[in-house]
Amino acid sequence: MENLREIEKSLNISYHMMNFDIKKCCRSPGVGLTAASPTGAPTTTAPEQNKCPANLWTVDRLPEHFDPEYRLRRDVFPQHYDVSIDINIGDGGKFDFAGHVDILVEATEPTNKIYLHSLDLEVEPVRVVEAEGEREVPVQAQSLNVEMEQLRIELGDKLAPHKKYVVKVAFKGKLGDDLHGLYRSSYLDEATNTKRWLAVTQFEATYARRAFPCFDEPEFKATFTIDIGHNSALTALSNMPASKTGPHASIKGFNHTYFPKTVPMSTYLVAVVVSDFYVTKSEHSEGHADVAIWGRRDAAGQMAYARDIAPKALAFFEEYFDIKYPLPKQDMVAIPDFSAGAMENWGLITYREAQLLYDPAVSSQSSKAHVANTVVHELAHQWFGNLVTMKWWSDLWLNEGFATYMAALGTAHLHPDWRLMEDTAVSQALSVLPLDALESTHPVVRPIEHGRQISQSFDTITYRKGSALLRMIHSFLGEKAFKQGVSRYLKQHAYGNAEQDDLWERLTEEAHREGSLPACLTVKRVMDTWTVQSGFPVVTVRRDYDKNTANVTQERFFSSKKHSAEECWYVPLSFIAAPDAAKTAKALKDAADSATHAPQEWLRCQRDEAGQIGQTVAGLPAKDKWVLFNVNMGGAYRVQYDEENWRLLAAALADPKQRNAIGVVGRAQVLDDAFELAQTDRLKYAVPLELVSSLHLEEEYQPWRVALGALSRIDNLLRNDLYYDFFREWVSQILRPVFEKQGRIRDAVTDFTASKLKNLITSWSCKMEVGDCLEQTRELFAQWRATPDPEKNNPIPQDQRSLVYCYAIRHGKSEDWIWLWDRYLKSNVASARVTILSALGCSRDHWVLRRYLEWGINEASGVRLQDSFYVFSAVASTEAGYPLARDFLYRRTKAIAKHYGTSTTRIGRYVSSIANRMNTEEEYQQLVEYTKKNSDYLTHADQAVKQGLENARNNVQWRLGHADEVYKMIQAALGGEGSETLLSVVTDSV
Ligand SMILES: [Zn+2]
Repeated sequence: MENLREIEKSLNISYHMMNFDIKKCCRSPGVGLTAASPTGAPTTTAPEQNKCPANLWTVDRLPEHFDPEYRLRRDVFPQHYDVSIDINIGDGGKFDFAGHVDILVEATEPTNKIYLHSLDLEVEPVRVVEAEGEREVPVQAQSLNVEMEQLRIELGDKLAPHKKYVVKVAFKGKLGDDLHGLYRSSYLDEATNTKRWLAVTQFEATYARRAFPCFDEPEFKATFTIDIGHNSALTALSNMPASKTGPHASIKGFNHTYFPKTVPMSTYLVAVVVSDFYVTKSEHSEGHADVAIWGRRDAAGQMAYARDIAPKALAFFEEYFDIKYPLPKQDMVAIPDFSAGAMENWGLITYREAQLLYDPAVSSQSSKAHVANTVVHELAHQWFGNLVTMKWWSDLWLNEGFATYMAALGTAHLHPDWRLMEDTAVSQALSVLPLDALESTHPVVRPIEHGRQISQSFDTITYRKGSALLRMIHSFLGEKAFKQGVSRYLKQHAYGNAEQDDLWERLTEEAHREGSLPACLTVKRVMDTWTVQSGFPVVTVRRDYDKNTANVTQERFFSSKKHSAEECWYVPLSFIAAPDAAKTAKALKDAADSATHAPQEWLRCQRDEAGQIGQTVAGLPAKDKWVLFNVNMGGAYRVQYDEENWRLLAAALADPKQRNAIGVVGRAQVLDDAFELAQTDRLKYAVPLELVSSLHLEEEYQPWRVALGALSRIDNLLRNDLYYDFFREWVSQILRPVFEKQGRIRDAVTDFTASKLKNLITSWSCKMEVGDCLEQTRELFAQWRATPDPEKNNPIPQDQRSLVYCYAIRHGKSEDWIWLWDRYLKSNVASARVTILSALGCSRDHWVLRRYLEWGINEASGVRLQDSFYVFSAVASTEAGYPLARDFLYRRTKAIAKHYGTSTTRIGRYVSSIANRMNTEEEYQQLVEYTKKNSDYLTHADQAVKQGLENARNNVQWRLGHADEVYKMIQAALGGEGSETLLSVVTDSV
């Protein structure tokens, strides 16, 4: 599934150590890993010392401690389902369905119990018959266990092992509107001005059981034959292409559409869509699956992009994995109401409209990139997730981490000019590391103890950290071993289930064959320290400038200060150094930006004389040259240096010739690490602020993105201070020259990265009221307002619309707000609607914002349930809106929870968006009180709540500990007088 940033719940138990004996590790000669040369060959010489040590640092995953009743019994297995469902989608005023399912099962041992899943269904008396001969097995009792969501059948006779039976169940259900199970969606058809209904499924993770009784766990794979009864004016789609459509045997005006047997698959991947949608098909090419895009007829002009890239992405993966896509077709459907971003149902992928449809005349380049990324993510799942599926949800990261990483590789392949691998490297640092530095984070592999934890696993750690770790493996194994290992893993487990250890085995074999991993090291040994443990390390490099070596140590990185932890990671160490004069600028840039970097060393889990886990690394450059570790941010960790190396790096960034050698990602990384280290008291703020002072030389998007992201966090913490003006003035000084370089807002920029930079700088310049930024937004917006037929004619460049709308609304009148709201209601393009929803939150009028917050949780207003959160987060993210959004959450929690119905994890996003902005003790205490009082509504979001509380507490602590220091630096940078006096006043105020 492509998720829209779910923030979820963590488990208390995250990892444990087995066989960990530090002394033994330290003292045995040859114990630990031998350092690898860049070619991967061990560099220690004596063969006996190369023997694999028996007792290194080991991290074992915990056994699952789920409620034993929650998982299904392991004595009856489904092999095939015949599913038949008649669906009323407003037919006769009804929204419901009725059907029957025949499940062919086999028992592995004698048993008189058959347990399967069923939820919110009316189930008629079940029959069980022998598959051959149809002899009836008497059913003694059947019951619904509501808490476990199970239909439990007790038989009069025992089932014989290895004999086949058919479980026959008839059922009825309601076609709900809460976006899960088999549900309804609707849209307004413009030509006829009528409301049109459709039925659609969303089964991941545990909602197939809401559509028909089934063995609803990923390990119970089976084949499916499906037929759907539906109004004859509509078309039914399922995983396979329809084999036959004809009049329904018993319902007048209905058709029956039959779908042939699927390949073996998990229940969460079964899908059905019944609609009157328009379709556009890609050109048929012999031997390849047919691709078709479906959606509202009014959106027909927005389907070409997805239709063109999908076959290319399928071909890319077929080549990459060396496995053909196994189904004859791939339908992709844009659903008007959809909870996730998209869902990878095998052969029938469903999307929210903004993730599939792209209007070249309206949408921004960013929304095109979102479409590309989502389409490629879902297509990657056809192999990762669909062909090979995790055994249980605790290994969900194998599905989502892979799809996320493969989406980056696949999209970069389709659009090399977008420079997506740079983006991937920096995004991982910005989204994963801050979250994973909290005490309340969780490991990538997380034990699932109860069903409610499953939906909460679809979070940033699962998706983004999972992807970052795969990128790290790719980097240290090299292209060939990675690609071969992944392909062999998929082939070995095709149509089956697997765990991460299965992947580690195949990757290790290939790595040893290729020589990219030392013989004594396995991928499992390395990666268990990253996937089973929570968090990540900060690696500290202290150079010996006389010997050209460095002492390298590690410890867990927490976002709050003063923690100690015992964890240790196997860290691939790669570094680059200040170049020799002979190298060309291009060669240096290519080296710094290359995708894979064989580690020069492995940092192993041994303690040095000072009791620190560390070792000496040789081969560093001469004393006057900088060194940068973790090249291209290939590893998911941070790096700290001694003061002198920081000084050398800062000097290099300020030198137009040296900057290139550090690379785009390297420059972003240095800034990011410096700010994060300063925030946690490991580094003086003088260092990151010094780095910021050379930003006037920076012409690339990624370093600016990191720097302004860090300044945005500081901005949030200082925004209530008496001397906030100094901060604004300082940031304005930094922005002014670069804002002028970007040119007028009305001039569109075609290069995607350059356009992102322009957008970022312009948006900040308007925020800080630099130059004529605000005036330009007002002019452009006024021009748009004066245009006849504003739906068709908009003079604002597509990429700059979100910022122009926002600042025009912020400094405009309430009639501007109403006019833009009207554009929202009339827009036919989903991504444009989202842009407008976000901009409407920029108003500074309290009454407008309060009304808007209410509209956000009332579908009658025109805001769909799927878009509700955009309204809240837009209001919460502005200065004027934040206190209103906070009070709204505190007052209206019950209404918000009711609005979401079954998607109760969503409320966690409301809590975290508020908590992240808090910066006073009083606010923090209020939040603590609020979470206690509303615990009933927050049970399914307690991870987000924990993370929010921790972030709020860290913010308060930062302000107490760092505000002075930062003001002092800013004062010095501004060259102001009387700083002594100022600082004494500032000290009193914070
Ligand atoms: Zn996914």
